[in-house]
Amino acid sequence: MHTRRRVIKTLCTLPLWACAAGNAFAQDADRTARLKGGYAQRLKKILAAGRLPYIDIESSCNSTRLDIDAFARNMERLDIGLMALSADIGDGQFDRGVRFDNLSERLTARYPDRFIPVGNGGQPPALTNAPDEFLDAQDAAARSRQIALLGEFEFRHYPSPRQVRRGELQRDGAIPIDGPIGHRVFGMSARLGIAFQIHYEIEDALLVPLEQMLTQYPQAKVIWCHLAQIRYIERAARYTPQYVEGLINRFPNLYFDTAFGGYNSIYPISNQRHARVWAAPGTLAPAWRDLIAAYPKRFLSALDLGGDRIDQIVEYDRDHRIFLSSLPSEAQHQVAYRSAWSLLFNEEFT
Ligand SMILES: [Zn+2]
Repeated sequence: MHTRRRVIKTLCTLPLWACAAGNAFAQDADRTARLKGGYAQRLKKILAAGRLPYIDIESSCNSTRLDIDAFARNMERLDIGLMALSADIGDGQFDRGVRFDNLSERLTARYPDRFIPVGNGGQPPALTNAPDEFLDAQDAAARSRQIALLGEFEFRHYPSPRQVRRGELQRDGAIPIDGPIGHRVFGMSARLGIAFQIHYEIEDALLVPLEQMLTQYPQAKVIWCHLAQIRYIERAARYTPQYVEGLINRFPNLYFDTAFGGYNSIYPISNQRHARVWAAPGTLAPAWRDLIAAYPKRFLSALDLGGDRIDQIVEYDRDHRIFLSSLPSEAQHQVAYRSAWSLLFNEEFT
């Protein structure tokens, strides 16, 4: 009894997903403690071997095509610590009425030491054709503590470079971040205490509505994915390291993930190098490097694997490690796993 009370007391400093209440209390609290213990052990094991583990906060896949065992073996081989691998609900699943894909349940059942339970990608068709049903299902999963994280929600999304190459230009999504869907998502995060990821192209005209939402929902935990990934520089005069620093200072619950391409990555429509953090191959621009080094707690490791590139994990891992290794040593550890740990568990990794 005494031990149980102590466990409960410890867990209730955690966000809602990790802080059980109601009938499922003991069961969920135990599960969360078990997951967290496994995660810590895995990170420490990789550290002890002299390697840098990282927590990939943002990757997605098509769950119907994922070879879980092969994927887990790659994580092992590459010393990837943990992943928040979300399932995107594809057209076929959507047409069958799927509004929540329980991939995370299967991942954590099989490999409980390396997958963070996460909701589904908010992209077409789920977020565009049935936003209420989709968000109802994500909300229910979060309330029953099945997931620790939401997203990535696509509010403004240009066609990805791979889609452009395939001629799939229809994924040019625009959902007003200050519209009903935005209010619902920000409100959900504030109420549940769990973070969500947004895909939000960097354009001057889009910055003010985002700032207004961050102001209106100070408790919402927002991960703005793809730091400094600017596809059209002529549309983004305001977005600079100084601007991002201003956001960091104004909004304590705003985070940035570091899923971006290498120096030579070109956005095919504008023909521009869209990963603006780089000064040269493998060398960060000093202003971006200094910003991350000054506020490492606000930046998160991320690979951004997706259904159409899940087999490129070796290349994505290599590129991400080039980014991490170009940071000062302390910042490497903070960005790689400590920031995500604090965000997920409301405590420092020790
Ligand atoms: Zn994205």
